[in-house]
Amino acid sequence: MLQQLTEQVWYLPHEEERDRPVLTYIRGRELSIAVDAGSSPAHVNAFYGALRAAGLPLPTLTVLTHWHWDHSFGLCAVAGQTLCSQKTAQKLMEVRRWQWTEAAMEQRLLTHEDIPFCHEHMLKEYPHPEDIRVQVPAVTLEGAMELDLGDMLIRLFTCDSPHSRDALLVDAGEALIIGDAGYEDFYELDRAYDPARLSSWIQRMQLSPARWLIQGHQEPVLLLDALTEWNTILRSIL
Ligand SMILES: [Zn+2]
Repeated sequence: MLQQLTEQVWYLPHEEERDRPVLTYIRGRELSIAVDAGSSPAHVNAFYGALRAAGLPLPTLTVLTHWHWDHSFGLCAVAGQTLCSQKTAQKLMEVRRWQWTEAAMEQRLLTHEDIPFCHEHMLKEYPHPEDIRVQVPAVTLEGAMELDLGDMLIRLFTCDSPHSRDALLVDAGEALIIGDAGYEDFYELDRAYDPARLSSWIQRMQLSPARWLIQGHQEPVLLLDALTEWNTILRSIL
C-alpha cells in the first residue's frame, strides 16, 4: 500500500521475499516522476494500482537509480518517458543481450557476471525467466539536471556510490531518493564497503539539506541517522 512521506512524495514499500525495492513517486502540478521501475511488469502493476487507488496520475517520467535488475526490469511496462545515468544505460545494453534461460543464468554465476543473491530472487519474481524483458531508458544523463514539475523543482544527479558505479540520485526537497547507493557493493566487493568510496559518499551526503532519505530496501530514515550509521561502518573498516 502506498505511503505518503512529504506533501509531494509517496512510496510503495519494499518487499523482502522477492527483494522488490521501494518505488517512489513525486507529484508535481504538471509532471509526476517515478523513481525506479521495479523488478517486473507485475511490480509495476502493483505500483500503478496503488497510485490509482490513491487518486494519483501515472508518472510522466520514470528514472532509474542504478542498473540492478530489481530496479530496472519493470521498465518494459512503465508509462511515459524513461531516464537513467549514462553508466546505467551502458550496463543495461550489455544485460539486454543476456539469455534468460535457467541454464544461461546459472552459467553467468560461474563467470561471476551475476551473483547468487540476485539469481535466487529473480527466480522468485519470475517463475519463467524466459519472460524477462530488459529495456534501456530513452534518455541518459551524466552530471546534473533540474526538472520543473510545475510547482516544485527537483534535481537529478549522477555519481559514484558505495553500492554501484552508476548511481543517479533524486533530490526532491525534504526527501532525497538514493536507491541502493548507500548499501554495500554486492557485485564488485561481495557485499562489502570500500573505505574510500564510503568516505566520499559520506562527504557528499553531509552536504544535502534533505530531512528524509528514501533507500531501496527499507523504510525511509532521517538522513542524520543514516549518516551516523555510515560513519560507524567507516570507522569499523578503516
Ligand atoms: Zn542494487
